[in-house]
Amino acid sequence: MGKLLIIGAGGVGTVVAHKAASLPEVFDEIMLASRTISKCDAIAERIGGKRIRTAQVDADKVPEMVKLLKSFKPDIVINVALPYQDLHIMDACLETGTSYLDTANYEPLDEAKFEYSWQWAYFDRFKNAGLTAILGCGFDPGVTSIFTAYAAKHHFNEIHYLDIVDCNAGDHGKPFATNFNPEINIREVTQKGKYWENGQWIYTQPHEIHKPLTYPNIGQRESYLIYHEELESLVKNFPTIKQARFWMTFSQEYLTHLRVIQNIGMAGIEPVWFEGREIIPIRFLKAVLPDPGDLGKDYKGETSIGCRIRGIKNGKEKTYYIYNNCSHQAAYNETGTQAVSYTTGVPATIGAMLYLQGIWKKPGVYNVEEFDPDPFMVQLNKLGLPWVELHDVDIEL
Ligand code: NDP
Repeated sequence: MGKLLIIGAGGVGTVVAHKAASLPEVFDEIMLASRTISKCDAIAERIGGKRIRTAQVDADKVPEMVKLLKSFKPDIVINVALPYQDLHIMDACLETGTSYLDTANYEPLDEAKFEYSWQWAYFDRFKNAGLTAILGCGFDPGVTSIFTAYAAKHHFNEIHYLDIVDCNAGDHGKPFATNFNPEINIREVTQKGKYWENGQWIYTQPHEIHKPLTYPNIGQRESYLIYHEELESLVKNFPTIKQARFWMTFSQEYLTHLRVIQNIGMAGIEPVWFEGREIIPIRFLKAVLPDPGDLGKDYKGETSIGCRIRGIKNGKEKTYYIYNNCSHQAAYNETGTQAVSYTTGVPATIGAMLYLQGIWKKPGVYNVEEFDPDPFMVQLNKLGLPWVELHDVDIEL
């Protein structure tokens, strides 16, 4: 049906490569390209069957990307490198007539700030070129946004309160590690909290607001209000929302490590001089922390991510909770990576599949909730991320 180019041979890229390789009726040719080709080769070898071709590319160099796109000629690129590469890869896609999908919005290297404005600004260029750009097609953002769209389509006339709840109840046995790229993860969780209320953003100190929430099959976990990128597009695309918040669980151990890392300056993104050369503290930290891709082997427990929604259906108030639980061990057994990479890579693969099938083909730049959620929900159940709905339950929020 179509040709897929995956950029980024990390934990998420590994899952995309595995899943796409298992769908030959959709992805007839697959290439995995990344900064370090040996990582691509190792993944391709594990998958076997000569399903995956590999290439070396620095995706920050647009001419290099253009050259690769011109030689392989994919129908769509899945960008699971880092958010810094988003605009460069989008530029290369425009130059070569290739559609685009990612799982995290653009972030400039020198500023710990992420927002959609930079990518939304590409709308006319993608539309005029007849190309589709699908933004935020991981789990959160991604499935959480699709859950919201599905709830709006089938269960509510108006959504008023949206709480996205993200619990990782896994134990990787390490004193401190991040579940995806440490640099991006630490930048995300150390910033100020922010949520939407009555038409405006309310700011909080980092981790200032927290409460225990009960997660299915897991139990109670302290959950912290943080800002997460899908809130920006969801309040725009569902204007009836009065309040939108994002909650993530952290252990005391994790928060203590994070506080120390910040206090001693290791989360810094400004260069410092070290032994005659400049280094960026958070980059150095990444180099000494466990590689998230290696956590899977001993990872026990599961993740539980979902949306708790309150709103109106047929004139009556209703509550609704939709979620997926994903086992780290099951994810590892299937793909060699833990559940955080798995829950991101599977939705990215589904998004590209729906694009190739013409179901999610729409020239322009769109967040995932702007597409029909139904075919996506069907594929989640088929491809390893089954979801559960609860109606009129206590959503605790
Ligand atoms: P990793 O750090 O494990 O992998 C990133 C990969 O991208 C690495 O292989 C890296 O290469 C490669 N890369 C980095 N820079 C470049 C470049 N300039 N050119 C080519 N390749 C490059 O990250 P993850 O797999 O954990 O995460 C991937 C993406 O998924 C991130 O953007 C992250 O924010 C996003 N994500 C989204 C989630 C969601 O639910 N929406 C959840 C989790 C992650 P090298 O090996 O040489 O360093």
